[in-house]
Amino acid sequence: MTYIEVAVALPAYQTFTYSVPEPLADFMAIGKRVLVPFGRRQVTGYVLGQSRHSEISDLNKIKSVLDIFDEQPLFPSSMVPFFKWISDYYKYPVGQVVKHALPSGLNIRQYASLAITEKGQNELDGERLTPIAKAILSELLTGSILVKDLSKKINQDISTAMLYTFERCGWITKKWKITAGKTKARLERFVCLTDAALTVEGLSEARSKIIEVLKVEGEVSVKKLKTFVPTATALIKALESDGYVSIRNKRVYRDPFGELIEPDRAHQLNSEQIKAVDRSIHYLTKGYKTFLLRGVTGSGKTEVYMQVAAAALKSKRTVLILVPEIALITQIERRFRARFGECVSVLHSALSAGERFDQWSRIAQGDATIAIGARSAIFAPFTDIGVIIVDEEHDASYKQEGSLRYNARDLATVRAKQNGCLAVLGSATPSIQSYYNVVTKKFSELTLKTRVEQRPMPDIKIVDLRDTRDVRGIRRYITTDLQLAMKAALERDEQILLFLNRRGYASFPVCGACGQPLRCKHCDISLTLHRRANAYRCHYCGFGRSGTSKCEFCGSNEIRLLGLGTEKLETMVAALFPNASIARMDRDTTQQKGSILKLLKGLKNKTTDIMIGTQMVAKGHDFPNITLVGIICADLSLSFPDFRAGERTFQLLAQVSGRAGRGNRPGKVVLQTYNPEHFSIVAARQQDYMAFYRQEIGFRKTLNYPPFSRMIQLKISGKDAQITENQAQQLGNLCRELKTQQSAYDRHVEIMGPIEASLTKIAGRYRWQILLKGLNTGTLHKYINQLLFENLSVFGHHAVQVAIDVDPFFMM
Ligand code: ADP
Ligand code: ZN
Ligand code: ZN
Repeated sequence: MTYIEVAVALPAYQTFTYSVPEPLADFMAIGKRVLVPFGRRQVTGYVLGQSRHSEISDLNKIKSVLDIFDEQPLFPSSMVPFFKWISDYYKYPVGQVVKHALPSGLNIRQYASLAITEKGQNELDGERLTPIAKAILSELLTGSILVKDLSKKINQDISTAMLYTFERCGWITKKWKITAGKTKARLERFVCLTDAALTVEGLSEARSKIIEVLKVEGEVSVKKLKTFVPTATALIKALESDGYVSIRNKRVYRDPFGELIEPDRAHQLNSEQIKAVDRSIHYLTKGYKTFLLRGVTGSGKTEVYMQVAAAALKSKRTVLILVPEIALITQIERRFRARFGECVSVLHSALSAGERFDQWSRIAQGDATIAIGARSAIFAPFTDIGVIIVDEEHDASYKQEGSLRYNARDLATVRAKQNGCLAVLGSATPSIQSYYNVVTKKFSELTLKTRVEQRPMPDIKIVDLRDTRDVRGIRRYITTDLQLAMKAALERDEQILLFLNRRGYASFPVCGACGQPLRCKHCDISLTLHRRANAYRCHYCGFGRSGTSKCEFCGSNEIRLLGLGTEKLETMVAALFPNASIARMDRDTTQQKGSILKLLKGLKNKTTDIMIGTQMVAKGHDFPNITLVGIICADLSLSFPDFRAGERTFQLLAQVSGRAGRGNRPGKVVLQTYNPEHFSIVAARQQDYMAFYRQEIGFRKTLNYPPFSRMIQLKISGKDAQITENQAQQLGNLCRELKTQQSAYDRHVEIMGPIEASLTKIAGRYRWQILLKGLNTGTLHKYINQLLFENLSVFGHHAVQVAIDVDPFFMM
């Protein structure tokens, strides 16, 4: 490679050409990081491709690469078009897209360990070495050392090019040591029968028992064998020396609960599952296709994913699985590890930088063929993907907010298309967008209409909260219906889930003397009291005030604690059921590493009777002993000023209801609401997705909301109220001017705003927004391109930030 195309990690939308000096040429490859001169600086760049000699206009102006950082490429060349697509669609500089995609925090080059060879030692005696070479080789005489320590010792930066040269001359050897945070493999002893055992007779009773167990189970861990024959440890040694069994160490995996994962076998699929698996496998080798797998809660979607994954592996291709959040990754990870073992790699934010890099390298080098992760796993560096699976595809956590704003669910179909492979999006409550894609034949539908083993859907009872509006205390929120159902479940020794989508103790503290609410100093939002922490906190910026604060307006210390949060609910429930063991899962109780697992373990081991939680408990979990779900107030998400409020409410209610009755005993849901007639709530009660879809799609059509249009939101924010408003107005004017320039813009692009955002101030920043709505995707994107590239100075203003949110989700 003589000339290369490089994307720099700077706000630059285009790529640049550099020349490659001779000593580096052999090591250059797409996917490596390089050090390049840029203006008067030196910056990191990513090699995206080769530049053709003929395409370069002024050869004299081309600068050359200074150094290469990586031994192995960090991403395959097949991902380059993906990065470019993202940059173009989400209006984000391509180098920063790559930077966002790669695991952060490690300068890998620093972790090469160097040692001197005999040839190098001989060279030291000669006269040919430069002073720095001499310094390095002399230092190595004392033993092998990491590059980063070496450069400290000799007090100089050491370029990779120089090390390559030394290596090529045969003076040094290099080894990679990227084991930071890597956990050691765990080994267990496993036993299996030899052929001789099949015909043996006349053994003692205990020994025959062992042979019998092994005949049925195949290879078994010694640990498990001991549950059948407690004295197995000594006996198998004897059996081994007689030649009847063989014993070997095997790598095993611990599940997130710290327990050994025994290998599992595939379920016997029911007929709906078979149909779904067969249809998707049929398309595995036929290029791009997206399926929407719509299966009610508890219908066995994961089993379908696993069998499609197995088929992809069999055809020597890889599998990428996206899951909403960490709590769910652990559950899917457990099931995939049990089935597929060694080849599963997991990517999520709870890993340390070292662990994350290890996982990344395993994928890039082909050691892992299945990757499971949250939204950022869409960037897993696979070359030949067979299928991309997106579980709970409707989930809002696939949308990345801040810096690079993307939707991983949408990117899954883009990557599948570019790789010519299969995408399977699964959900019990598909997004309106995805189901519309089924209706318009962009996606094909697979359905699972019943729960596995014909288990019934839960019985949902609606309780009208208006009846208890004037009641004081506990009974206002834990109605008689709910209380009786809870009592009955506890008596049957079953578990209960209570759902309230608001954390803290009191979410609306108000001064009893003057009536003013307690507000955050930096945001235009009321504070929430957290009793355990004895503090008022802002849920948007983290600002806190002491729990004994007085009213800022009149100085009164008589604060009334209105608004119910999970923390208050917990104390109420504890008062009602003093003998039950209660746990709470929300963002406050899951800050510490490992705390989510502890809470889930409590549910699994049945040491928790009642679990109270926010939407964290609503998703995906499979706990068969939960038979009652109580939804304290179904309406909290309905009142958001957002066109998706109805969709979110339906999804949340149907999902949380789906946690009930997943085992042998039927489930019951008590759904409390102030709006029993609202169609989102009625449809959730009937667990009727299609009824919901038909109502909602009509409403979207009438108002020309997505999926009938596309939206781009310009999010404008700054520390100074006046300057921010002025910038917003100026940008609004530019938008309107541009609209008049072309008749296509004039017809297809609608501009709403600038208006102040519903959350007018967050973390000290004043917020404005402009919403662009386009009936035609192409025109809207052409419009935003022109707006951006003709006004780069407005978008790059020093005091007012303008973020472009393509296909926005959180519009407040
Ligand atoms: P979903 O993701 O659709 O809510 P899961 O995939 O979690 O459902 O499956 C629910 C439970 O049913 C799991 O415990 C799973 O092991 C079990 N299961 C899946 N398929 C079958 C089957 N064909 N027969 C029996 N049990 C099954
Ligand atoms: Zn007051
Ligand atoms: Zn705040």
